[in-house]
Amino acid sequence: MKFLIPPFDPETFAPLRENEVGVIGSIPNCSKTMHTSRMGEGVIEGIWKEHEKVWLVDLPVTTDLMRISLGKAKGIKERIILKVSALSQKAYVSKCIKYLKKWEKEEKKVIFLGFPFGIEPIISRMEKKRIKFNFDGFGVYTVGGWKSFIGSVTPATFRKKMVEYFGISEECCKDWYMMSEMSAGIPECKYHYKHIPYFLQPYVLDEEMNPLPYGKWGKFACLDPLANSYPGFISTGDRVKLLEHCPECDKPGPVLTPDISRMLGAGAKGCSAAIGKALEEM
Ligand SMILES: [Zn+2]
Repeated sequence: MKFLIPPFDPETFAPLRENEVGVIGSIPNCSKTMHTSRMGEGVIEGIWKEHEKVWLVDLPVTTDLMRISLGKAKGIKERIILKVSALSQKAYVSKCIKYLKKWEKEEKKVIFLGFPFGIEPIISRMEKKRIKFNFDGFGVYTVGGWKSFIGSVTPATFRKKMVEYFGISEECCKDWYMMSEMSAGIPECKYHYKHIPYFLQPYVLDEEMNPLPYGKWGKFACLDPLANSYPGFISTGDRVKLLEHCPECDKPGPVLTPDISRMLGAGAKGCSAAIGKALEEM
């Protein structure tokens, strides 16, 4: 996947000068398995040049590795693969911190793109080594995966850490609502409400799949006209509340409130949950 567009400020879409920004991609190299991650990877690969970015997890997440990481390692060979993967991740955290130091010295802006649990190991290492950065402006674009954290990391606590350790303001930390089954991501405004793109038709359903009015809690569903290889009638296990307008900003269209969780009885699913589980096991 390639995007023929120049590097741009993801907030204003203004073009950037050469070498003005560094990018941390916390998405594994998962071209063989993960559709959503592949889309993110395509954006990063297409927009920024090689010397401007660092992948946090630079190992191919194949179906075999997923199986091994999920506790199904068969024999000595696969147990060795598991250990090597863990070392590989540690090495890349060091590499990220090295680049962040360099970019801070060069007064570059920094963009984090990917799963939030991929950024967490950098923060842990920084906590241990008492390192803090001060990157003013730009920010963090996460794509779900909150259920993959051990403990109680939420978007709000994660944003506080980004302020503390990277000097990136809370309003520059945006979490997109995405899933493999849906062709588009649902971006956040700076008040953290998720704005539905105009071409998606969203619904909130009750347990009998009946549509609920705005302001009621239920499970998220949508009609996605961009899907052309399967009917884009998507019903999820995510508990959401849909509002007709954003209560905080004047962008048009309906929004999801920030507090999205799984419906009772629905397990963690999808790309980010699977990769999160794999990283947790490493
Ligand atoms: Zn808004």
